[in-house]
Amino acid sequence: MAKSANAASNTSTSKSAEAKRGRGAGKAGDGAERHATIYQQIREAIVEHRLKPGARLREDALAEVFGVSRTGIRKILQRLALEYLVTLTPRRGASVSRPTIEEARDVFAARQLIECQLMPWVSRRLQPADARALREMATSERQALRAGEQSRAIQLSAQFHQRLAELSGNTPLAEFVERLCSRSSLILAVYGASGHLGCESHDHDELVTLLEAGREERAVAFMQRHLKAIEASLSIEESTDEAPDLRQIFG
Ligand SMILES: [Zn+2]
Repeated sequence: MAKSANAASNTSTSKSAEAKRGRGAGKAGDGAERHATIYQQIREAIVEHRLKPGARLREDALAEVFGVSRTGIRKILQRLALEYLVTLTPRRGASVSRPTIEEARDVFAARQLIECQLMPWVSRRLQPADARALREMATSERQALRAGEQSRAIQLSAQFHQRLAELSGNTPLAEFVERLCSRSSLILAVYGASGHLGCESHDHDELVTLLEAGREERAVAFMQRHLKAIEASLSIEESTDEAPDLRQIFG
């Protein structure tokens, strides 16, 4: 018992020492903060479709571009793999994930379940300054689209959904929504019509109006339709499998 407690404390000591060494250490800034920045940069490039699904992510090439060790890059790729943005294949290495149709459907089903249910919470907590900030995001998104800045528009659109989830006040769910939005962005890259953003940015304005007015049920229904519309814009073949007769099976 005492032995295992010791082992645990040794581990945590060595971890924090490693973190301390990591910060600011390394000739090329190969530290924890540098790694966090690189992680963000790769993640954004995937989410904004600058790195396409299926694209190879070679450790040595990335290490050279960012001026850090291959070990550092490997850790970053492993972290992105945990978020399903990167796929690690033995011998082949890392590549940008290419979500399957089933994954696409499941991600949108998860978004329906979570994002819609968050709407009443958001509506109750929404402050005038939050509503203004959300409207500004929707406006920037439209401007980016008009200016043909596709990457920026995709990022802004995902940020709008993430910000809404944060405003619910439930951090774990907001983190989950953030991941679902990143995966949605990949799904759009694979199955979306080219040049299609997914979200209708006018929808975002209308949603803010409903939330501001405290029309909780209408905001839930609106989000349902909004997410359905994004899913419907994807070229996912309808499954020919018939829905099972659940009454017959379980009745
Ligand atoms: Zn949207």
